Amino acid sequence: MARPSPVQLRLQFFFAATALLAPLCASSADAVRDTPYFGALAVDVDLRDAARKIFHVHETIPVKSGSLTLRYPKWIPGEHSPSGTLDNLTGLKITARGKTVEWRRDLVDMFSLNLKVPEDVTQVDLTFDYLSPGEGGKFGQSASATPGLAELEWNQVAFYPAGYAVRQIPVQTSIRIPAGWHFASPLEKSADQDGTIRFAQVSFEQLVDSPLFAGQFYKQIDLAPGAAVPVRLNVFGDRAANLEITPDQIAHHQALVKQAVGLFGAQHYHHYDFLFAVSDRTGSFGLEHHQSSDDRIYADFFTDPELFSFGAGLLPHEYVHSWNGKFRRPAGLATPDYNVPMEGDLLWVYEGLTQYLGNVLTARSGLWNAQQYRDALALTAAQMDHVPGRTWRSLQDTADAAQRLYFEPRAWVSSRRAVDYYPEGELVWLDVDTKIRELSGNKHSLDDFTHAFYGIDNGSMKVTPYRFDDVVATLNAVQAYDWRAFLMQRLNSHEVGAPLDGLARGGWHLTYSETPSAMFKASEKAGKVTDRSYSLGIRVSAGEDKGNVFNVIWGSAAFDAGLIPGMTIIAVNGEEYSSEELDTAIAAAAKTRKPIALLVKNTGSFSTLQVTWFDGQKYPQLTRVDGQPDRLADITAARN
Ligand SMILES: [Zn+2]
Repeated sequence: MARPSPVQLRLQFFFAATALLAPLCASSADAVRDTPYFGALAVDVDLRDAARKIFHVHETIPVKSGSLTLRYPKWIPGEHSPSGTLDNLTGLKITARGKTVEWRRDLVDMFSLNLKVPEDVTQVDLTFDYLSPGEGGKFGQSASATPGLAELEWNQVAFYPAGYAVRQIPVQTSIRIPAGWHFASPLEKSADQDGTIRFAQVSFEQLVDSPLFAGQFYKQIDLAPGAAVPVRLNVFGDRAANLEITPDQIAHHQALVKQAVGLFGAQHYHHYDFLFAVSDRTGSFGLEHHQSSDDRIYADFFTDPELFSFGAGLLPHEYVHSWNGKFRRPAGLATPDYNVPMEGDLLWVYEGLTQYLGNVLTARSGLWNAQQYRDALALTAAQMDHVPGRTWRSLQDTADAAQRLYFEPRAWVSSRRAVDYYPEGELVWLDVDTKIRELSGNKHSLDDFTHAFYGIDNGSMKVTPYRFDDVVATLNAVQAYDWRAFLMQRLNSHEVGAPLDGLARGGWHLTYSETPSAMFKASEKAGKVTDRSYSLGIRVSAGEDKGNVFNVIWGSAAFDAGLIPGMTIIAVNGEEYSSEELDTAIAAAAKTRKPIALLVKNTGSFSTLQVTWFDGQKYPQLTRVDGQPDRLADITAARN
């Protein structure tokens, strides 16, 4: 998913929903049998109306007469939330032998439809339209179709019969796409006739795990030339100019594959397809799958070096998930179907370790140089070091509450806390890695853990669940230590500052400079934001709603002056607001030691607030710790 450092960008993409309560959990979980379903479903999707954001669907489901419950996927893998796109279905008709079959929604579980299948009927037909979202929304609820491309997640266009594990339900699929369009998917094409493209039968689980992108402008790049296991980068965009990828960019993505396979020592896919949309007209996020990832980022990603540097960690992150998240999965997230609730308590491993390894691989592959890696890490460290909310909410609680936190408002995030198991998880795993290196005299590292934990059963795609004790045991096998206490302390801490021990053991500490790093500037450009979090304590829009205060850090100078998220800054020291005027005022205040006067608009009322801040500009950076070995350099060096 989800990153002003690539982390934070992803964090912007979280949205809100309502979880249902215990009775549903019990009824849907208890009813799931792990035995084969008695027939194959068929899902046929017509994407030729993608320009109007309407996907037409026909589905057939083999049935037996009597009571039947059909479920629409609710808990979406990788979104860790009950975020199924139920509200986008329209025009649903269920028929059998051409006659209407009446249905009624379950009164508790909105995602379940109950119906009575007539005698001697062996199959029901469903027709409906999926209304692909417009502006706003996150993940699968964000814009996914433009006049030039369509991004299809199968969980949005298919019901499944209740009572069977989804891995036991076979399904056949086909698509139709506009003339002249191309498509890419980890599904294997079996036929292409009269404009209908058919795919080899898979399980319903594998189908939901196999998104499909289609579009007019398309480029496929071989990321593993000559390798036995293919890895392909499939790029789609709204304009041909967005697909101009440099030889260096290709070479670094090829290096990513080599470095990742080396890091884990096994592959858990038969082939891997990055489905990559570079578009400003669809949502921006990453969603992991076993043999692919659904990746969406800025239109100018390949052609704007700043945006490239800032977003370079997206594909490495999602690729790591093939091992960490898909093959090996926390037991609470390895559910038998999409209506059994998920438990997110180990997301600091699932997402936190992925964030750490993804960024390490971004550096090892050359997508970032060592300086860019450190500058991105400085952003993460500073962000997490300004979270007063940690005094009430532990890192563990952010994981426990994940299904809510992806949806929460962004205002006051420093006090609420967000899905901090990504950025703070990265710091914790850096802590683990440097500790292993220190204790073992550099003989061992987290690379040994990744080999032991993920490098098993080469070629297997069978989900292999784990629990907290398995993580501790594997760490102990790599390097004896009280890892349980080490991790528990960090997970349950209410200390004010971020866990920065790993950074120090890596030879670096977090300091602040008067000038922003290139990565910091790139983060502002990508986020269309003027970020003065570490001086005044505010993030202000630099986009169309310029001057709108996105966020105020709890307890900062801006907070003390009365600023709140949602205000608009109209003027700075009597001059019309611009980021330049704001910086002029910060510099002036450092000299005159007079407060900065901000004329603000607060839901229709105007007032002038006085911000007392005399310490000038502060931008995060890492500086060397004297006498400490540069373990960050060792960690990020390419492996042969
Ligand atoms: Zn992730």
